[in-house]
Amino acid sequence: MGKVDLHSHTVASDGTCTAQESIERAKNRGLTALGITDHDTVAAIPDAIREGERLGVEIVPGIEISSVDGGRDIHVLGYYINIEDAEFLTRLESLRDVRNIRNRMLVEKLNELGFPVTMAEVESRKKEKTGNIGRPHIAEVLVEKGFVSSMQEAFDKYLGQDGAAYVNPPRISPEEAIDMIHKAGGVAILAHPGLYNDTQLVERLIAYGLKGIEVHHPDHSEEDEKIYEQMADKHSLLKTAGSDFHGFRNGKVFHGDLGERSTTVDTVRRLKELAGK
Ligand SMILES: [Zn+2]
Ligand SMILES: [Zn+2]
Repeated sequence: MGKVDLHSHTVASDGTCTAQESIERAKNRGLTALGITDHDTVAAIPDAIREGERLGVEIVPGIEISSVDGGRDIHVLGYYINIEDAEFLTRLESLRDVRNIRNRMLVEKLNELGFPVTMAEVESRKKEKTGNIGRPHIAEVLVEKGFVSSMQEAFDKYLGQDGAAYVNPPRISPEEAIDMIHKAGGVAILAHPGLYNDTQLVERLIAYGLKGIEVHHPDHSEEDEKIYEQMADKHSLLKTAGSDFHGFRNGKVFHGDLGERSTTVDTVRRLKELAGK
């Protein structure tokens, strides 16, 4: 049965590959379908669908919405949203404004810590004018200026949840993200729950109306996969998988490579069913 990777980023957010490059790579790596799930934007979807048709890779249109719960980043994946829904697009715009405020706050903190990094330097890492800026772009500047030796170190010491420059301005709650996705005709799936290490939060969001859980993700341990697989089964939820491919930084695959975590076309069929497509 065909392999499907339901989680990947392009230059429309903080990935380094265009939709076309990602889809070519997906095809070369034997994938039947690929989910495009950029942070807070659906800008890459029309191109991706066109390229997917040309190359014979089915595109699962998606998004990864950033929300916050108790000061922590919680990501909610949405599949088969109507990407022309005006209200949805307006709300995404305001989410991107918060993202920009956060980037500026992170840069200010780094300056306070003695690292002369500017927003202009960070902006210049963007691969496309329309793309979103995120922490990976800032990390890349830190690496290139020699303040840290790797992306991992940039996140561990400064930009990650426990990092010295970490800031998280208020954003929408995960419940609001779920509502946003469902109102726009999509299917809400909780991204990488293993990273939150909070089964109570997951239970709360399931009760709220989550349709599935991303059980397989490169940052999940075997134990995580077991826990979330059981939880999904208990509530008859969809179990998804994805590599969270972000392209290449400093010559290395950043996060997982395409297909490193995968599910089957049956999951795609069920996603479509849930979205009424
Ligand atoms: Zn995520
Ligand atoms: Zn992601």
